[in-house]
This record gives sequence, C-alpha cells and structure tokens, in this order.
Amino acid sequence: MYSADTDEQDAAPRRDGGPLPSTAQPHGSGLESLRRRNTALVARTLLHRGPSARSEIVHATGLSATSMTKITAQMARARMLVELTAVAGGNMGRPRVPVALDTAYYRFVGIHIGLRRTTGGLLDLAGNVVTEHAVTHRSRTQKAILNEARELRDQLVATAGGPERVLGTGVATGGRVDPHMGVVVDHPLLGWKNVRLAHELGTDDGPVFIDSSVRAMALAETYLGAARHADSSIFLFIGNIVGAGLMVDGRLRLGHDAAAGTLDHLPLGHTAQGTPCRCGRTDCLAALASDVAVLERARQAGVVPSHASFESLVTKSRSGSTQAAALLKERAEYVGTAAGILLDLMDPDLLVLGGGLLQTPEHLDALRAAAAARLSRPAAAERIVPTGLGEGSLVRGSGSLPLHAFFSDPAPMLRTPIGG
Ligand SMILES: [Zn+2]
Repeated sequence: MYSADTDEQDAAPRRDGGPLPSTAQPHGSGLESLRRRNTALVARTLLHRGPSARSEIVHATGLSATSMTKITAQMARARMLVELTAVAGGNMGRPRVPVALDTAYYRFVGIHIGLRRTTGGLLDLAGNVVTEHAVTHRSRTQKAILNEARELRDQLVATAGGPERVLGTGVATGGRVDPHMGVVVDHPLLGWKNVRLAHELGTDDGPVFIDSSVRAMALAETYLGAARHADSSIFLFIGNIVGAGLMVDGRLRLGHDAAAGTLDHLPLGHTAQGTPCRCGRTDCLAALASDVAVLERARQAGVVPSHASFESLVTKSRSGSTQAAALLKERAEYVGTAAGILLDLMDPDLLVLGGGLLQTPEHLDALRAAAAARLSRPAAAERIVPTGLGEGSLVRGSGSLPLHAFFSDPAPMLRTPIGG
C-alpha cells in the first residue's frame, strides 16, 4: 500500500515525492496537523478497502474509536463520506453502519493529450470513471491542441455541476514532463518543447496538476489498479511511446531531471528491421517494440497497407494472418527482455504492463518466457501482470494526479473547510 507523501515526519520537500500540489506544505504542527493527517489516513483506508465499518477502520489505522467517530462525522459534513445502511453486527449483535467515500458529490477532472486525440473525463472520489469523452485533434498545432483541451476541461467542469464540485484537474501527456515546474520539457512526437501546460490550462477555480502519462498511469495502478497491494512496482507502458513509472516503497520516483523511467534507448541486443531509432541505433526498446515501430515493420513487409493503423494490424492478426501474429509476438518478446532487465534491476513486487501491447494478450506467455530467459531468477517473470485499470485508463491516469494530491492531504483541496 502507498504512503502519504506529506507525512509531517518528512517535513523537508522532496524532489522525488511525485506530483504533489504546487502549494503542498507539510501538515504543520499541533492538533490541526494531527487532524489533517488522520483525515488523510481514514480517506486512504476507505479508498483502499472500500465501504467499511468504523471498527474495521479503527483496526486498520490504529486510531481510537473516539477519534474515528469524530473524524468520520467531520468527513461526512465535508461531503467526503456517507453512511450506508446498517448491517447485522458481529458477536455482540449490534448493527454496524458501514461508511464509504461519497461518490455522488466531488469530482476529479482528468485530461490526456495524445498524439491523435485528447481524452477527458471525470472521476468520483473513489476513482470510478463517471464520464469520458475523446476529441480527435482538428489540427496538430500546439495552439489548437491547447484550445481543444481547455474547451474539454470547461465542458467537464460543467458536467460535474460547476467548479465547486471539482477538487482538481490532472493533465497528462507523453514525453518528459516536469510536474513541479508545470512544464512539458520535451515531447518529440508532438514537437513540444518547454510548454507551460499547467499555466495554459490553469484557472482560478482549482488546482491543476500535470505529469507524464506513464507516471500518471503508474499512480493510477497504485491507487486503483493492479498494484494496489504492492509497495514497490514498475508500470511498463508500451504504446506509441514507451516508458516506465517507478513506485519505490510507496512513492513515485520522479528523478533528478523529472526523467525517471525513460527507457526509449534501452539496448536489447537485437537489431530491428525498419526505421532506426531517433538516436540512430537500431537496437533500442522504442525502435523495436513501440506500436509505431511494429506497425512500420508490418507496412514494410507488406503485411498491412502503407497507411494502415496499429489497430488494423491487430485485426489482421486476429483474423488469422500468421505474419501479423509473428510480428506482434516478436514485439512481445522484445518487451519481455526489457521487463527481465527491469525486474533484475529493481526487484519490485509487481511489474504491471499497459498500452497497445495489451491489445494482443495472447502473447503474454511469450513475453513472460522472454523475461524468464533474461532474468537471474526466472521465477520473477511470474510477477509480470497486465494493467488493472480496464476501460477509461487514460482518464483514470490523468485523474489520479489530483486524486493523489487529495488523498495525501484532503483539507486544502476541499471547498467546505473540514473540522471545526
Ligand atoms: Zn534510441
């Protein structure tokens, strides 16, 4: 399970603490600090466990029953929590009233800016996708894409019921993103350099958090997906872009230059037939295993027409093309080799896979076999699992940026002050 990033034991701001709110402060000292920390703890416990009796939260958190009664009452007044219908009690026979996160009131906005389209949606307080909407780019210019994202955000805020219902907005995109500076440093596929994305999408209505889509999805896997019971995990994304999100002992590793998890040029010891990597070599993970790379090889081999999409290659494989299937299996094996290297290096509890790679789950066994062949301890390949985010993974990823900030310290993001 993840830990709060704003624990007061850890008062010094950390560079690698993940996408904290730019206004994030240590909780301070004294009773106020204790109350904020305990509220965050109860909220995270409910997110992790789902609806629970107060006695169960007492057991899970170590807080006293008296504190629990007070905290849950304050959370209910702040629209964070609801009481559910009483259920029959345990051995004393008293009915228990479970409590749950209030999924009806507050929303997180999540927006993902991709190569071909921008996808946005709303999450409820428990991270469920309430609504999702994708807009295909009308034009590839930076201005047009930013305008489109702003329109989508405004539309989502209206759908949520107005700015007072929105706790925060998360915006994720590919390339290298510095969440503390609010800047997309470099996104080669979109041709963006030093774009002040947080500023461009900022409003007076609430905080905006930005990060790379891979790190955002790593957070989502940790809060809501396959890695929710893991302390340390690697999220390996293989799509048009490739990269990893590293959760180390419950914390998202950002890195010195906000570049942790860059894997484009990981050499795999194979040479790709096809277009070399941007760096000029032919044995890089990106050149061997990205969706665009495998599609390019399929086009060059005449397996699909020259303007075909990656989806059409997958369709071709499903309809019995052995050539298409062989290319996709080979790609899965390249990813397996990379996964083996990462498992050896980090020894995480889990390695979670995401991206276009999972459109061909029939090759997961080949992927695990290639990882096992590379690993010092082949059994570690069993820790490779597919994403647990399901439908709406782009919205759950970007929406996890404000969700993470909220569950680290809810009080500053609430419209109704908590406590008193
Ligand atoms: Zn390269």
